[in-house]
Amino acid sequence: MIHKSDFLVIGGGIAGMSYALRIANGGKGKVVLVCKTTLDEANTTKAQGGIASVTNLSVDNFEKHIADTIVAGDFISNHQAVEHVVRNAPKASVTLWNGA
Ligand SMILES: Cc1cc2nc3c(=O)[nH]c(=O)nc-3n(C[C@H](O)[C@H](O)[C@H](O)COP(=O)(O)OP(=O)(O)OC[C@H]3O[C@@H](n4cnc5c(N)ncnc54)[C@H](O)[C@@H]3O)c2cc1C
Repeated sequence: MIHKSDFLVIGGGIAGMSYALRIANGGKGKVVLVCKTTLDEANTTKAQGGIASVTNLSVDNFEKHIADTIVAGDFISNHQAVEHVVRNAPKASVTLWNGA
């Protein structure tokens, strides 16, 4: 069977879904979204909806969060990217909470 579309989105997690919805809602054309198995087999369905960041340096520190993220990423994460995200997360979450 052949499916024709204007946009082919590969991945049904939050990244693919968000992009597909944006394109579809913008009326820019027909969108087809594909995933590897089923839509509920993605990291997105397992996420708990929280944002973890260092908020209290007297009981927590950046190094622990960096190490935890490297382990969770099975040691294949880009160390520079992990460090950037972890060190800038407090600033980003304050911005989010303030609605800016
Ligand atoms: C247990 C757990 C808890 C988490 N908790 C949080 C949290 O509290 N807060 C938070 O911010 N983040 C959390 N995360 C991380 C978050 O879930 C991911 O960062 C995010 O969901 C990634 O979204 P994504 O769309 O990039 O990838 P995914 O959701 O992994 O989607 C990838 C998609 O690509 C498809 N795909 C993969 N390979 C192929 C292929 N070869 N061909 C076709 N399709 C393919 C898959 O089928 C899937 O649909 C958690 C992750 C896990 C596992």
